[in-house]
Amino acid sequence: METAVKTGPVMSNVLKDMENMGHEQVVFCHDEATGLKAIIGIHNTVLGPALGGTRMWHYSNDADAVEDVLRLSRGMSFKAAIAGLNLGGGKAVIIGDSRTQKNEALLRRFGKFVDSLGGKYITAEDVGMGTRDMEYIHMETDHVTGLPEYLGGSGDPSPVTGYGVYMGMKASAKYLWGNDSLSGKTVAVQGAGHVGQYLISHLVKEGANVMVADIFEDRLKDCTSKYKVEVVDAEKIYDVSMDIYAPCALGATLNDDTLDRLKCSIVAGGANNQLKNEKDHGRKVMEKGIVYAPDFLINSGGLINVYGEIAGYDKEVAMTKAEYIYGVTLEILQYAADNKISSGEAAIQYAQRRINSIAKINQTL
Ligand code: NAD
Repeated sequence: METAVKTGPVMSNVLKDMENMGHEQVVFCHDEATGLKAIIGIHNTVLGPALGGTRMWHYSNDADAVEDVLRLSRGMSFKAAIAGLNLGGGKAVIIGDSRTQKNEALLRRFGKFVDSLGGKYITAEDVGMGTRDMEYIHMETDHVTGLPEYLGGSGDPSPVTGYGVYMGMKASAKYLWGNDSLSGKTVAVQGAGHVGQYLISHLVKEGANVMVADIFEDRLKDCTSKYKVEVVDAEKIYDVSMDIYAPCALGATLNDDTLDRLKCSIVAGGANNQLKNEKDHGRKVMEKGIVYAPDFLINSGGLINVYGEIAGYDKEVAMTKAEYIYGVTLEILQYAADNKISSGEAAIQYAQRRINSIAKINQTL
């Protein structure tokens, strides 16, 4: 007997959301045998193939997963454009708990879906994924970056991301205080994961006072065993007295609730999509007099690193390119102030300008 197929409101909104946000393609993947449920978002391929990591997260509902992949893939288009890379923007999410549901079969099935796109989407690591996982995906497709070094890849991109975030934070300090020293400044880092810990290593070395929060005890233990940092409760991080808030966990942590609580001078962190609502919260941050280093600009180190795998990899070159983030951040903050727009808007204008100009070239060829 045939069962009636019910579709929820999520599907009916996707095309509208794609239209509003400018997406080219969204691919829904399902595999009963492995339990895989994944979504691949391809935002824009004007500059090149859509490259962006795969995130595995236990979303509370499918609509949250769709929203995440749409926002993240769009952010990747801007990130590649502003970093001067010949890449488009894409991202994938696997719905599930990476600690309990991730396994070889599921990842390889996902790899087959990536392969079916013929290189239009190239994957990499994101939250809940590691280099070993990229290796499983690579068993089914060549369209994967962030492979371990012994497989000819560039390995974990987080050291370069962490360094780029540090550069963006120093540039923000220079813009605000006329001096980029972070010595003696209090920095609250949210998330003691890959990026958070590399950022912390630079901050501690420079003599900053670092506070750290994470929702997992083992991450905190790992961090405190390596660095002299103060642990704060994950819920209370927005209320502590700090100079700089560094979101290095998930996105949307700059929202109505947190912006009423945060009393920092600078926000500079590695997390993607920090502003819950790009326009409203970008403005609110500006009105509060907080200097916000646009996330997709200062966390582009990871993308710069994996791009090397396509264009020829050299760790030194990746680190040098990540250093450019300092100059671009200063330029964007100044441009935003001169034009009385939020720094996020300014960064998007920069990125969009490059995409539009290259689109014109493509049309004439
Ligand atoms: P990760 O999984 O290694 O670390 C994230 C950490 O945040 C984990 O320890 C997790 O427990 C913690 N966390 C989650 N929710 C939290 C909360 N509410 N409060 C405090 N801690 C919380 O991931 P990562 O690779 O370090 O990435 C961190 C962020 O940076 C993500 O938003 C990712 O998209 C972004 N990013 C990462 C890279 C990279 O190179 N890894 C590049 C660009 C952007």
